[in-house]
Amino acid sequence: MSDPQSSTPVAAPQPEQGNRGGTIAGPRNLPLELENPDLLAPPSTDSGTLANLRFSFADAHMRLQPGGWTREVTVRELPISTNMAGVNMRLDPGNPSGVREMHWHQEAEWAYMLVGAARITAVDQDGRNFVDDVGEGDLWYFPAGIPHSIQALAEGCEFLLVFDNGSFSENSTFLLTDWFLHTPKSVLAKNFGVPEDAFANIPSHELYIFPAPAPGPLAADRVAGPNGEVRESFSYRLRQQDPIEAAGGHVRIVDSRTFRAAKNIAAALVEVDPGAMRELHWHPNGAEWQYYLEGQARMTVFASSGVARTFDYQAGDVGYVPFAMGHYVENRGNTTLRFLEMFRSDRFADISLNQWLALTPPELVRAHLHLSDEAMAALQKQKPIIVK
Ligand code: MN
Ligand code: MN
Repeated sequence: MSDPQSSTPVAAPQPEQGNRGGTIAGPRNLPLELENPDLLAPPSTDSGTLANLRFSFADAHMRLQPGGWTREVTVRELPISTNMAGVNMRLDPGNPSGVREMHWHQEAEWAYMLVGAARITAVDQDGRNFVDDVGEGDLWYFPAGIPHSIQALAEGCEFLLVFDNGSFSENSTFLLTDWFLHTPKSVLAKNFGVPEDAFANIPSHELYIFPAPAPGPLAADRVAGPNGEVRESFSYRLRQQDPIEAAGGHVRIVDSRTFRAAKNIAAALVEVDPGAMRELHWHPNGAEWQYYLEGQARMTVFASSGVARTFDYQAGDVGYVPFAMGHYVENRGNTTLRFLEMFRSDRFADISLNQWLALTPPELVRAHLHLSDEAMAALQKQKPIIVK
């Protein structure tokens, strides 16, 4: 292996620490090992057996369609994640642009726009409709069972979807074309009050993702219905929200208190400065599903019974923390670390280890940990969420 800058050989990392471990003598996947230094040579505090808590979208099957692509990290890829699943989808730019076919599903859908812009539509159970354009950093949320669509504007788009069930699959949603294909034409004719030959040209297979004329101005796509528009918007401009400033970065929290439609998925967008760390904490209301947007992270998850394991993450990776397990997320790179924390809940909630100790009678804390006076005083001064 050589460093492209200097062309001098760089020693490949080895699973060695002091007098423990040894060199790898057999076959190795060096690029993958370089991505996971804390798996290759774990910190000495790691112990015991813990489920896998990392899966990269780069290791996920790509479904290619005319008009875009999609890949998913579900319970099939990351078996511990029984309660949440994620999808990464691209809808192609241009005119025509990519459409995610009109559909619905049994799960609620929470989304974060990564790049570009899209027009989204939905209709709710009260016959109220919704149409909006969403751009980079915007969110949407469609409750379970609510029919919706997504189409790239001319610039194209790519987004992350998160579902409140690990068994979700993009390949088994209820598609408009699929239903038409599997309903007798006589029934379609009766249902819509038109002759059967009105359905002579319906597609012979599901569309799923396909190209269609790019949307025009938003105002032109507003359909005036008798019941008006949905009461709680299905979109949310996360970047317009003032972040919580922390010592080592900042955080935007979004749940049903701010984004009222988002009844079953809560999230935090976390930005951690180089050298800083999302503090030691846990969540009292569910498991955490993470998506890494940029930078390099290291997380150790503490599973009780003397079990702890450390994982590394970078852009495009999914991380997971089982319910109530203690963890931190450290920026191990020299650029900003940015990631999403997501929970199947109507609220974001966390318990800070620091705050727990700071708000407990000091003599009791001292009896457990034998901290110095200096450390006991520091506990009272530490700012929460992201430390530096
Ligand atoms: Mn959907
Ligand atoms: Mn967390």
